[in-house]
Amino acid sequence: MPGITIDKNYCKGCELCVKACPQQILSMSKEITKRGYFYAQVHDPSRCIGCQLCAITCPDAAIEVHSHGTRYVLFEY
Ligand code: SF4
Ligand code: SF4
Repeated sequence: MPGITIDKNYCKGCELCVKACPQQILSMSKEITKRGYFYAQVHDPSRCIGCQLCAITCPDAAIEVHSHGTRYVLFEY
């Protein structure tokens, strides 16, 4: 089953991934990070289809998409 990991320490709260997700399963946190940003989180991971649009959209490469045990890293720092 596909899924994603969001590294909140890289997230700057721009919400682009929330708008990009066709499944609308991403939302912003109610807490802030150490850098003072609300961060993206998955609120319904079972509906993720692994399309990678969130990871491609994220300007800070904070999202990784996993599928069937394979880990895809789209943009390495
Ligand atoms: S991989 Fe696709 S469906 Fe899954 S959270 Fe990202 S944009 Fe949404
Ligand atoms: S696109 Fe990236 S930086 Fe923007 S809210 Fe989503 S995870 Fe955070």
